[in-house]
Amino acid sequence: MQILKTKDEVRRAVRQARREGKTVGFVPTMGYLHEGHLALMRKAGEDNDLVVVSIFVNPTQFGPNEDYASYPRDLARDAELAASAGVDIIFAPEVSEMYPRGFSTIVDIQRLGDYLCGAKRPGHFRGVCTVVTKLFNIVQPDRAYFGQKDAQQARVIRQITADLDLPIEVRVLPTVREADGLAMSSRNTYLTPREREAALVLNWSLVRARDLVQSGEQEAAVIAEAITAMIEAEPLARIDYVSVVSGDTLEPVQRLDGPILIAVAVFIGKTRLIDNLTLEV
Ligand code: AMP
Repeated sequence: MQILKTKDEVRRAVRQARREGKTVGFVPTMGYLHEGHLALMRKAGEDNDLVVVSIFVNPTQFGPNEDYASYPRDLARDAELAASAGVDIIFAPEVSEMYPRGFSTIVDIQRLGDYLCGAKRPGHFRGVCTVVTKLFNIVQPDRAYFGQKDAQQARVIRQITADLDLPIEVRVLPTVREADGLAMSSRNTYLTPREREAALVLNWSLVRARDLVQSGEQEAAVIAEAITAMIEAEPLARIDYVSVVSGDTLEPVQRLDGPILIAVAVFIGKTRLIDNLTLEV
């Protein structure tokens, strides 16, 4: 496995692989890898001959009061994990490699970026869309892999890929969870033992929501209230949003019909965690 720091090196390596007739799978990450990331890498390895992973904590997708500076970083640890998952190339650029002096272009998305995390984190999806477009152009993969854990991000990336005619197949894989149900996240490392326990309320509230739907509940407000009540009963939790939206447009719905996304963002202490559930009603 190679660890490359520059765009030129990545382009050269991918070009060489292409000359050998290889297909290329790509997994963009911010590093501090966990099983959720590794599942994407293994799948990329099953589908493609060459697997490229980017590890880049992208400053433009963090708000001014968010955790850019404290986001966990450990390239040596990540390299071992990625190698064990069969990755061929890690692209780990410096910020100046991605955003050299004079950088002035952004890629943004309308509507889909306005709801859920987009409403709570102004500029977040502009940062995501810009960096993912750049990474797609640098790596030029056949297929790119994302996690359902970041449901809105996956939806947004599918849309920009289609809208900008990027010749890349976007694949979205299920959320990988700890044995007790907590969705894996690099940010889980921020949690104290007591907070780690409290964080289970995200998944529990979504399991409760699924039970309600399965027993026939169709009112979005009833489901959102049930989730809200459960989360509010946890003293260490503070709700950022609880939303029941169309899985297609991400607009709030009143009645459950068609593809539905039930998404929550919750502060556990100072740590903001997200989780979601998709349903076809
Ligand atoms: P991140 O490093 O958090 O930006 O995530 C990189 C990619 O891994 C994104 O496509 C995420 O959706 C995906 N991912 C993160 N956590 C999980 C998880 N628990 N299960 C599946 N995919 C995940």
